[in-house]
Amino acid sequence: MVVDPLIELLDVNKYFGELHVLEDINLTVGKGEVVVVIGPSGSGKSTLCRAINRLEPIQSGTIKLDGQPLPEEGKALARLRADVGMVFQSFNLFAHKTVLQNVSLGQVKVRKRKKEEADQRSRELLGRVGLADQAPKFPAQLSGGQQQRVAIVRALAMEPKVMLFDEPTSALDPEMINEVLEVMRQLARDGMTMVVVTHEMGFARSAANRVVFMADGRIVEDRTPEEFFTDPHSDRAKDFLSKIL
Ligand code: ADP
Ligand code: MG
Repeated sequence: MVVDPLIELLDVNKYFGELHVLEDINLTVGKGEVVVVIGPSGSGKSTLCRAINRLEPIQSGTIKLDGQPLPEEGKALARLRADVGMVFQSFNLFAHKTVLQNVSLGQVKVRKRKKEEADQRSRELLGRVGLADQAPKFPAQLSGGQQQRVAIVRALAMEPKVMLFDEPTSALDPEMINEVLEVMRQLARDGMTMVVVTHEMGFARSAANRVVFMADGRIVEDRTPEEFFTDPHSDRAKDFLSKIL
């Protein structure tokens, strides 16, 4: 039982044409919880994240954030996107804006902060992830690991209620994976509510409160990492773990 739910998915169904990509999904994420979502490619993990952010509409069911159904359009939708920070596999920074501008832009546009105030906050957050010196540079001048840390900071600058990570380290060279995971571990320790799709099982073991295992658009297991990794119940999970561990 989740005591204080922040995200609730109730009987959610999503189709792409004939393809049933999310099938009767019921999932609750409590405030301050870290939920790691794992599963084979094509199982619907990205679609699940995108549905929570309303980047993908659903055909039936309800998704609530902080007790409220997701808004469908307009300013409320822009605020939802700010409340639900999202970090993708590809870093998605604005190539023609500096690191500082990337982090400040949404704060000014959506959160209506003054530019000076936004910039100050951006610099402080960049400093916290070791990127103070990078503020005037353009994304292409940064390493992949640095760009991903900027993407995290950009979402954090909006003061989101929850952070969604969709394979945030999958596009990184191995030596850069840890610097990004370390920022995520710190966020988790600071009490951020997080949904993390990842193949980094070390992160799942050490940082997750729960592991959600998906296959073919369904949630097959939803348990603590300890339970899941030592005693997976389903054949699908056993098979998956045997291939990646
Ligand atoms: P995962 O992230 O677990 O790899 P996805 O959520 O990306 O899975 O995809 C789930 C299924 O939906 C896959 O079969 C994929 O090919 C399909 N799919 C994803 N996005 C689209 C789309 N925009 N149009 C049609 N099919 C899609
Ligand atoms: Mg995916």
